[in-house]
Amino acid sequence: MRPAILNPLFAPLASLPGVGPKTGKLFDRLLDRGADGARLIDVLFHLPYQTVDRRNRPKIRDAERDAVVLIEARVVEHRPPSGRYSKGPYRVLVEDDTGDMQLVFFHSNVAWIEKSLPIGETRWISGRLELYEGHLQMTHPDKVLDAAGLARLPPVEPVYFLTEGLYQRNVARAAEEALKRLPALPEWRDPAGLKLRASPSFAEALARLHGPDSPEAIAPTAPARARLAYDELLASQLALMMVRARMKDENGRATTGTGATAEKILAALPFSPTGAQRVALAEIRADMASDKRMLRLLQGDVGSGKTLVALLAMTSAVEAGRQAAMMAPTEILARQHFERLGPLASGAGMRVALLTGRDTAAQRRRTLADLVAGDIDILIGTHAIFQDEVRFRDLALAVVDEQHRFGVHQRLALGEKGSAVDILVMTATPIPRTLVLTYFGDMDVSTLREKPAGRQPIDTRAMPIERIGDVIEALKRAIASGAQVYWVCPLVEESEELDVSAAQDRFENLRQIFGDRVGLVHGQLKGRDKDAAMEAFARGETSVLVATTVIEVGVDVPNATIMVIEHAERFGLAQLHQLRGRVGRGSGKSSCLLLYKAPLGDVASARLAIMRETEDGFRIAEEDLKLRGEGDVLGARQSGSPGFRLADLAIHAGLLPHAREEAAAALRDDPDLRGERGDALRLLLYLFEREEAARLLRAG
Ligand code: ADP
Ligand code: MG
Repeated sequence: MRPAILNPLFAPLASLPGVGPKTGKLFDRLLDRGADGARLIDVLFHLPYQTVDRRNRPKIRDAERDAVVLIEARVVEHRPPSGRYSKGPYRVLVEDDTGDMQLVFFHSNVAWIEKSLPIGETRWISGRLELYEGHLQMTHPDKVLDAAGLARLPPVEPVYFLTEGLYQRNVARAAEEALKRLPALPEWRDPAGLKLRASPSFAEALARLHGPDSPEAIAPTAPARARLAYDELLASQLALMMVRARMKDENGRATTGTGATAEKILAALPFSPTGAQRVALAEIRADMASDKRMLRLLQGDVGSGKTLVALLAMTSAVEAGRQAAMMAPTEILARQHFERLGPLASGAGMRVALLTGRDTAAQRRRTLADLVAGDIDILIGTHAIFQDEVRFRDLALAVVDEQHRFGVHQRLALGEKGSAVDILVMTATPIPRTLVLTYFGDMDVSTLREKPAGRQPIDTRAMPIERIGDVIEALKRAIASGAQVYWVCPLVEESEELDVSAAQDRFENLRQIFGDRVGLVHGQLKGRDKDAAMEAFARGETSVLVATTVIEVGVDVPNATIMVIEHAERFGLAQLHQLRGRVGRGSGKSSCLLLYKAPLGDVASARLAIMRETEDGFRIAEEDLKLRGEGDVLGARQSGSPGFRLADLAIHAGLLPHAREEAAAALRDDPDLRGERGDALRLLLYLFEREEAARLLRAG
């Protein structure tokens, strides 16, 4: 159980004044909490990525584009939407002696606009300045102030990433209220280290970041920011070491298969394993056969064939008369693994079952009973596999298909489901060597660098979205000759306020062209609808699958050979690479079209250039790290590295060795975290939600 002192931080954000049901939902989305709901801690960890320095008042002509600025201007003209039924915005033209800009308001409150922006008056207007079709404009300025309002403004203000419908003031207010409720926490860091880095306390660091007194105060390397990043690295290293220590305590069990079932599977396949797959499998089998517990990472680029390796490893467990489990990060993936591996495994005489959060009660009861009776050899599922009621007769091997999600701390808890369970974590993001340690601690690594033979290079092109007409003509021809197409859009919900082509819009638009051969899948669909759309595409009943990034992780339809990514400039490099990896899986020629909206920033155009240049995931991962080090903020979420909320390895990797050392020293002094410092470190684990590790302590 989480220590009570932390409860206020994990209270729902909606309990704060100023956060109503509607803004609450927006916060859930902004903070990536979905149906679980955002909590105070989430907004506290949602750090500003920029500040507006009100002391600096640029002229319109000189003001930075795509940044939040404060501008002094005269109100020139109001331009209400024309036409009675027009859904167009209400525009207000303002100017200074260097130029003019338009303020753009959708669903506007006309009375407020007229009152706040009287013609002929001077106003101080703050918001994101953009160049749109040749005009400077500010959509929904956060502030429109008169002289008195200006006088009340703090000199430096934080700027947060937002989601559609949420304003800077909503986030600032929520952060301010959350800070007031921050409990007094004991220091968990080693005093010498804190002094060395001139680190503020945890509370002081949060206060400084949400209420910066200068633009430098929030820099990623500023003491406050570094303090929090270090805290997070410390928590994660501590958790990794604790899990690891616990695993080492237990002796493993030797599991040796006969190889007979694996032979049957291989005989049924139309291909033979690559050299890399054979090597990885041999490494895994050797680990399983030893009496030490296996903790191994199988990393390989998308399409390198990790799943087959996993299946053969699980087969060894079954041959030895024991059980295996495989956990996927999403429902879609769990089903896909089940559908693909199921027939292969049962053809070779193994019994395979699926367990997800969507099973009916009766199904679930039956699965659980069969599992504990040993009537299931291989269980495939989502995180539903973690639940306490899920018991195996004799689990030998747990495979965790992490793809590029790094919740490894929790996943390792799967090892608690049996005695001396061997663990194989699979990741599709090729991780540069230096990062393996960060995410996985001391773990053995097998790498599939070689791709299955016969794969053709993916023809990758970038083009401006204006050429969409040509793209559609080309798709018509391709589809007529049997091709299948993924069409990825970056946002789920239709948004009228930004010119975003949301999946829904695009779906309807493509439907007008391709009729009912178009399917749609996104994260807000009901599970069954999602499955139905995926299945229809997998069976070739639809030719175009419009999707949000839910297809990013691992979905495999070998016949799909064209990937269109709309607003490619909004995706990170790793994400683009993952998406592209959905095609080029069969022997057909594949292509990937990156449709972008011009003008491209430097980082975005560097990303697209790298995508055109290489398909080597390892190289892409390295380039990604470099590019992110250059402080790109547009389109990227604030938190730097996957699995981390505050630490960005491109910036904070230098802190890692120190955090590792501190974690190791703390555990050496107090392995069960029982002392005063131990208590504080336990709080740290909960604060960063590494609590599986803390739970292990109790169990031990
Ligand atoms: P990953 O999980 O590493 O992204 P998959 O395991 O999904 O890759 O494999 C991608 C595709 O390649 C699958 O359709 C799989 O059947 C196929 N495949 C796997 N191994 C080989 C091989 N040795 N030769 C040819 N195709 C293979
Ligand atoms: Mg896979």
